[in-house]
Amino acid sequence: MSGDASMNIETLLIHAGEEDKKHSGAVSLPVFQSATFAYSGEDNYHDVKYIRLNNTPNHDAVQEKLARIAGGEQAVVTASGMAAITTSLLTVLKQGDHLLAQDCLYGGTQSFLTRAIADFGIGVDFVPGNEPDVWEERLRPDTRAIYVETMSNPLLEVADLQSVVAFARSHRLISMIDNTFASPVNFRPLDMGFDLSLHSCTKYLNGHSDIVAGCVIGNSDLITRITHRLNLMGGCLDPHACSLLLRGMKTLALRVEKQNENAQALASFLEAHPAVVRVNYPGLSGHPQYNRAKTLFNGCGGVLSFEVAGDYRVADELISRLKLPVSAPSLGGVETLITRPVQTSHAELSVGERETAGISERLIRVAVGIEAAADLCADFEQAMEGL
Ligand code: PLP
Repeated sequence: MSGDASMNIETLLIHAGEEDKKHSGAVSLPVFQSATFAYSGEDNYHDVKYIRLNNTPNHDAVQEKLARIAGGEQAVVTASGMAAITTSLLTVLKQGDHLLAQDCLYGGTQSFLTRAIADFGIGVDFVPGNEPDVWEERLRPDTRAIYVETMSNPLLEVADLQSVVAFARSHRLISMIDNTFASPVNFRPLDMGFDLSLHSCTKYLNGHSDIVAGCVIGNSDLITRITHRLNLMGGCLDPHACSLLLRGMKTLALRVEKQNENAQALASFLEAHPAVVRVNYPGLSGHPQYNRAKTLFNGCGGVLSFEVAGDYRVADELISRLKLPVSAPSLGGVETLITRPVQTSHAELSVGERETAGISERLIRVAVGIEAAADLCADFEQAMEGL
């Protein structure tokens, strides 16, 4: 890994993890679609080469690339972002432990924390991402970890991330961050001092909306523990998906830079449109954490959300008139997607939970792709005419 500090992410995305893997001279790493591999003297169960143990040549390459672009010692890939999140939480926390979690998390994570984790004897308190005093108040002797997201979904709130790290250090908590919305191009949480950086690789890291995958990056001790638990729980990623992820990552920097520009252009366009009553995007100067986002991030990513005047029917009408964005959940792909979160990503939350989180029925989330910004804005312009 020597030399990484002087190398830019664009270079690492192409070469890291593949330098010594030119099998038969192949420039592109082949897919090793083999469930098991010849025994070669491994003396530890987790080192035996087997797909479920996350250690085929395709796993090795993509895991090394992920660790090196994120500035971590080690990474593990998982069958989905949720597998990364649940397996990490169930490694770091045991029966009787307590977690502090940000109060506006991705719907799947929030459902796991509100509906499932109590079955494992683990307690959770939800806390606002911007109020460190409340974290202190909710801290218990059995609190072991604090869990936040870089930018919340779908309202794009930016938590006080520096204070999260300081708070975790002063109370010996493990700090965990879902960095999916930023990607390592826009933000590297491990550099700031977070212990674990988690991603749904389904989004920016793969970038082509054709696989579901996840990863966790951190120090070797924590990642080895998470990997061993994952090996038992069975949430491995298939080598073919590892290979697609490795390929997708090579263009991550180019894609995310374009998505930053496109989202900024579309957010500015929407903000100026008379039919729009509110736009949530940290790159807009009116966003409550604009200055923090500007200081911490290289860009604000491709996701924004907004509300049009009227109720959810007006929002649905707008979505149906758009020609370019596909009406679908998810984000981070090359094509623009649009959705009403109450119907998709946050459908499992109760009406009360959504109201507390500030997610209205008419809220629309856009995850921009890499089309021309002018074409996207023109499409929204025609769709909003006479709305
Ligand atoms: N984290 C965030 C921020 C997400 O948006 C998602 C999915 O939308 C996930 C985690 C879960 O990822 P996956 O669908 O790959 O399990």
